[in-house]
Amino acid sequence: MQDNLYLMVHFGELNTKGKNKKDFIHQLAKNIKNSLKDFNNLYYDVLHDHIYIKIDETCINEVIDILKDISGIKKISIVYKCQKEINDIINNVFKLIDDEKDKTFKLNCKRADKTFLPHSDEIIHQIATKILKNTKLKVDVHNPDKNIHIEIRYEAAYVYCKSILGAGGYPLGVSGKALVMLSGGIDSPVAAYMMMKRGVKIECIHFASPPYTQIGVIYKLYDLLHVLNRYQEKINLLIVPFTKIQDAIYSNCPESYAITIMRRMMYRISEAILKQRKCLAIVNGESIGQVASQTLVSMDTINKVISSVVIRPLACFDKVDIIDISKKIKTYDVSIRPYEDCCTIFTPKNPKTSPKEEDVVPFEKRFDYQSLIDEAIKNTKIETISLDNENEF
Ligand code: ATP
Ligand code: MG
Repeated sequence: MQDNLYLMVHFGELNTKGKNKKDFIHQLAKNIKNSLKDFNNLYYDVLHDHIYIKIDETCINEVIDILKDISGIKKISIVYKCQKEINDIINNVFKLIDDEKDKTFKLNCKRADKTFLPHSDEIIHQIATKILKNTKLKVDVHNPDKNIHIEIRYEAAYVYCKSILGAGGYPLGVSGKALVMLSGGIDSPVAAYMMMKRGVKIECIHFASPPYTQIGVIYKLYDLLHVLNRYQEKINLLIVPFTKIQDAIYSNCPESYAITIMRRMMYRISEAILKQRKCLAIVNGESIGQVASQTLVSMDTINKVISSVVIRPLACFDKVDIIDISKKIKTYDVSIRPYEDCCTIFTPKNPKTSPKEEDVVPFEKRFDYQSLIDEAIKNTKIETISLDNENEF
């Protein structure tokens, strides 16, 4: 057992955040501690440049696996903490080397503490001399088997040769809260993930149209959110009863405009709920040109009914790239389960790809949509999805 084994957590883009940096680090430390709360043998050192987690080898892979998904972490290095003294540094560098397996090495030294002597070049020279003398390893600066980093910081020195890439982005909770339109398809869970990675907490809104849509859709949403709970521990899901509005649209409006009008209704409701829930933006999985309702003209006509910020993280993504992310974040297998959504069930044969607002408004005036919207909002149900609860509908 090594009692100087630590994980060194490197911060992502929060390095650029100047005076907010303290808050960012505080939030990241809180998120990390919360995600690792089941491990009671970890000790944390939250410093200005890194967070250090004292760990023992038995749980290191499990802990890294969790850290990899926490937004705001650029990289995790497995380090030995040393005294700021050359012999202790050398002893710990030797722990990184396997004289049987490794053929070549390279040394890199960073001296954050400029008062420390000797200088980086001399540190490298002294350590390299020891390695060359005591092992069979040779230097290779281009493609070494062991790329060894030595960092001299104020509180201690650290040596390491293994780093794991983190999720990047900002710590969850530093960028406010957004309302994600969650459909159960492939796109919207990916859009949700991208927001969380940016540090934005999410709540989700779903438009349900029973009996046209089946209860299975709701179970699918629970499962999707359970997957996303890996990134946000508790996620609120607001389920809006949408059947009456859909029926009214199909009784009063031409089929070719139905999707445009339906989506305008969804946006109106989303904005009202956004205000109730104190969210700052609406998020959805729209991608330019993917379907008739996602041409720029359609988006413009649909967007005109509200003034809130609408973020479309996938606007410029190809479907294959969205699918790749959904596989990576493990929502894909749930998303492809075959349940119909209210959008797909009513898809007209010839939807307008360039619906103008002036064409749509007269159709909307044919029925009292505002009272239907008010009723739908009043009957919206809210549930909290977290890993430790079983949801029932
Ligand atoms: P797919 O992944 O197959 O494209 P989708 O859910 O993205 O499915 P679209 O018709 O492309 O389906 O819808 C665009 C966006 O509108 C969705 O990404 C989602 O954000 C939102 N949306 C669609 N239907 C619903 C719904 N029933 N409830 C909430 N949001 C919805
Ligand atoms: Mg889509």
